[in-house]
Amino acid sequence: MAKVLIIGAGGVGRVVAHKCAQVPEVFSEIMLASRTKSKCDSIAQSIKNRTIQTAQVDAENVPELVALIKSFKPELLINVALPYQDLFIMDACLETGVNYLDTANYEPKDEAKFEYSWQWAYHDKFKEKGLTAILGCGFDPGQSQIYTAYLAKHYFDEIHYLDIVDCNGGDHGKAFATNFNPEINIREITQNGKYWKDGAWVETKPHEIMRRLTYPNIGVRDSYLMYHEELESLVKNFPTLKQARFWMTFGQEYLTHLRVIQNIGMASIEPILYKGVEIVPLQFLKETLPNPDSLGENYSGETSIGCRIKGIKNGKEKTAYIWNNCSHQAAYDETGAQGVSYTTGVPAMVGALMFLTGKWQGPGVFNVEEFNPDPFMDVIGKYGLPWEVKEDIDLEL
Ligand code: NDP
Repeated sequence: MAKVLIIGAGGVGRVVAHKCAQVPEVFSEIMLASRTKSKCDSIAQSIKNRTIQTAQVDAENVPELVALIKSFKPELLINVALPYQDLFIMDACLETGVNYLDTANYEPKDEAKFEYSWQWAYHDKFKEKGLTAILGCGFDPGQSQIYTAYLAKHYFDEIHYLDIVDCNGGDHGKAFATNFNPEINIREITQNGKYWKDGAWVETKPHEIMRRLTYPNIGVRDSYLMYHEELESLVKNFPTLKQARFWMTFGQEYLTHLRVIQNIGMASIEPILYKGVEIVPLQFLKETLPNPDSLGENYSGETSIGCRIKGIKNGKEKTAYIWNNCSHQAAYDETGAQGVSYTTGVPAMVGALMFLTGKWQGPGVFNVEEFNPDPFMDVIGKYGLPWEVKEDIDLEL
């Protein structure tokens, strides 16, 4: 029985609130706080049979966060606001003695770059206070690392080649929309690609490397090599990896829109003066694009995210593919959010459950593959994201 404070009332916050509310024996009291309280209230009203508290907070204001935490006294804070707020929220957790979990690593607003160094630097501070911080517990990052740890533990003696494959085979009917916060999403996918090869990072131009990969129940999709944050922790925690890559599917229509957005300067994060007011083009663009929250109602199709691994077992080469497929419509029917928010929010709730039931603990800052994957894998299907494994198949990579 524990109190949990969720910060961020977007698509992911909606799913986390719904899923925590479904497990009252663990999450006995829930508070959802965000910049706009009316969004918290609307999510709270959509949760049947359970009352959750709501509050307004600016998560970039540490004293405000501290006051809220002191008044509610949670055991764990689940941060599903934006990556910009991670360090402010971690500071507030340290000041109030509260444990922490998030789904995306810190990014400074003025630099489109993600890496764990900023949050790993908090390890000793959390350790000294006897607190736990769990980083990146969504799907990718998150479940992708737990999948890797699970296969490494049960299917291989050593893992050598890892490909994380992320396909959204859904159709929301809009000409162009992003599935999570447009500003964060466009910053991520317009970066240079990067992958791990023989002990060093190899950089590529954005979308320079493409493979046509087959996804279960979806079919063949153009999949582009991208840099993704969990590669950084995975190559550190699995030093036998000779190669680690991340692939995401994009349609031609999507890429054409993206190219235009970049070419006309709308993906820029450099402030410009517009009629005497400073604006950031990408932040302005976010306001004109469909809100990811609004995509759910008519979203058809599925997501399919998994890990394809090659390594050795009993001296022989072996392959395995582990994945989950998630239906956008089923996610919407259950929580009012589309599949991308759902596949992020469910692992966040289960990670919180792992911590609060004593299965994942330890003082310091951890990436999820550092914990025992078994108790997570035992229950994640029951909470909405069942998985499958195929062994000794052609990985196409
Ligand atoms: P949204 O933009 O839909 O929601 C973000 C929420 O955070 C909004 O409600 C917003 O408030 C709130 N917020 C922003 N700034 C502040 C602030 N200063 N103080 C308080 N609240 C604030 O994003 P998503 O729900 O799509 O994504 C949430 C997180 O999940 C992001 O960090 C994203 O990167 C991560 N993510 C992780 C994935 C994974 O697999 N690991 C996949 C997808 C997303 P307001 O409503 O007022 O704007």
